[in-house]
Amino acid sequence: MAAADPSLSLLAYGDVVAGCERCALAATRTQVVFGSGSPHADLMFVGEAPGFHEDKQGVPFVGAAGKLLSKLLEGIGMTREDVYVANTVKCRPPGNRDPLPGEIESCESHLFKQIELIQPKVIATLGNFATKLLSGKPDGITRVHGVPQDVVLGGNKVLLFPIFHPAAALYTPRMLDVLEADFRRLPDILGTAIEHPPAEVPAAALASPAPSAEVPTQLGLF
Ligand code: URA
Repeated sequence: MAAADPSLSLLAYGDVVAGCERCALAATRTQVVFGSGSPHADLMFVGEAPGFHEDKQGVPFVGAAGKLLSKLLEGIGMTREDVYVANTVKCRPPGNRDPLPGEIESCESHLFKQIELIQPKVIATLGNFATKLLSGKPDGITRVHGVPQDVVLGGNKVLLFPIFHPAAALYTPRMLDVLEADFRRLPDILGTAIEHPPAEVPAAALASPAPSAEVPTQLGLF
């Protein structure tokens, strides 16, 4: 039997998540911000949570940080249509506060399902929240940015490439330099991941639960 079309499955899953009421953010959001971009993308970005503009438009990374993300992509010859962009938490925390550990936990299976359906080769985690969740480790972004890590997500081996959140670089030129330098490495990292796909995931790894990082209350952007 032919494999299911990931774009259809992703669309259908988006419809399911649109009605999610797993956490209290459902009461204050305008809408669920599921994700955007190519359902076949080899490169996926995972940010933190929707902000004011994302909540209004229903699309991730459309505010100032999103504009920087698009510009950084342009700098490496890619567009938002070439990649898939999602967040750790799909609904806006009121006042753009940090997502709470319980909110991340309630939402994580939505992200894992997206990853399972898209099957990206590389996931660039933007900032602390996505990095800690998807690496399953407590190491912060300042320490691990630019260090690729092999992980198993959604039943597939994926190369995790942690980078700073674009919001952190908006007003700090030094941070922007670091973010740009990490971004410039993405084409090579992606090329290598596509040319040399990792060996099949052993059954034992598939049976293990998805990583669930211990998330401290305040992770911040750094
Ligand atoms: N917009 C998003 O969609 N996610 C972030 O993490 C920040 C801004």
